Amino acid sequence: MADKVYNFGAGPAMLPEPVMKKIQQEWLDFQGMGISIIEISHRTKEFVAVLDQAKALFRELTGLPDNYRILFIHGGARMQFSALPLNFAGRVRAKKCLYVETGNFASLAAKEAQIFCQVETIASSAATNYDRIPELTIDQIDQNSAYLHITSNNTLYGTRWQKFPETGNVPLIADMTSELLSRQIDYNQFGVVYAGLQKNLGPSGMAMVMVREDLLGHAGKQTPTLLNYTQCDKDNSLTNTTNTFAIYVIKLVLEWLKEQGGVAAIETLNEKKAARLYQVIDGGEFYHGIALPEHRSIMNVSFKTASEELDGKFLQEADAAGLYALKGHRNVGGIRASIYNPMPLVGVEKLAGFMEEFEQRN
Ligand SMILES: *Cc1c(COP(=O)(O)O)cnc(C)c1O
Repeated sequence: MADKVYNFGAGPAMLPEPVMKKIQQEWLDFQGMGISIIEISHRTKEFVAVLDQAKALFRELTGLPDNYRILFIHGGARMQFSALPLNFAGRVRAKKCLYVETGNFASLAAKEAQIFCQVETIASSAATNYDRIPELTIDQIDQNSAYLHITSNNTLYGTRWQKFPETGNVPLIADMTSELLSRQIDYNQFGVVYAGLQKNLGPSGMAMVMVREDLLGHAGKQTPTLLNYTQCDKDNSLTNTTNTFAIYVIKLVLEWLKEQGGVAAIETLNEKKAARLYQVIDGGEFYHGIALPEHRSIMNVSFKTASEELDGKFLQEADAAGLYALKGHRNVGGIRASIYNPMPLVGVEKLAGFMEEFEQRN
């Protein structure tokens, strides 16, 4: 086998090794059935048990309150960019929905919503190239709005909301794709939390949506059945054939997370991992962080060297050293280390060591 490669890709991203071994081990024979998990109907008692266990584990690990429903929806995070206005804009007659622009995905969410509702972007950090989370106070939030949408962790720029905004009676909706289950969150602050799964949780092409019960039942007439959260909830996310494999993997990842000590323990580890990289970035003049220190993410660490040429050299040599997929997003350039839950501390140590050594040599 080749030397150990650490995968810093932003998504689809690395999964815990024990999870992949377990998949391999039971691939041909799921729980003594003599067939694979991907060969059985989504309506079998065996699969439904997997789905229900995934939901129960998520609840247990997050403390998600009883009045929130858990949905598995097709199409990843960006499909929810359409589903959100379709399901919730109708809560107010003006169909006015508020967005905060903190980066690429935040902008895409607002742009998609414009197809379905009246969008107002009430705060933005575009002017400073998304190096921070903009100030937002409750008096900027029209209380007659259907919801306020934020992107809790900005995957490209490496910023995150350290503290979530006070919104009064307007439900707060958060895209947590690149940080779900990486830190402890009080879900009571949110109307809806959602995430594409390929960053911290499992395979691509599917999303988890946690929605407060009282927000259901407002879907517009034109809402496609498979994007209707109320219908999905009624059908236990089995309106049609779901991505059974993805849900199976999520269940295994949640079991793994529980074995690691749960969200509080992984948060402590995640902080330690991020601090190690920021320590190298802040330790000298060689590397330049993209995000302002007080707005930094602990999941995506984005930085540059003095030139594009040197960035290129860094990436090439890192790759050769078994540090994979560190290239920054094409909108940002530079280098980005995505260090989601499954990334072990030794992987981060290896990268930090490489960064220090590269700095010495250049
Ligand atoms: C990756 C990402 C998305 C896009 O997810 P898809 O599943 O590809 O639609 C959306 N939002 C955030 C914050 C992301 O990091």
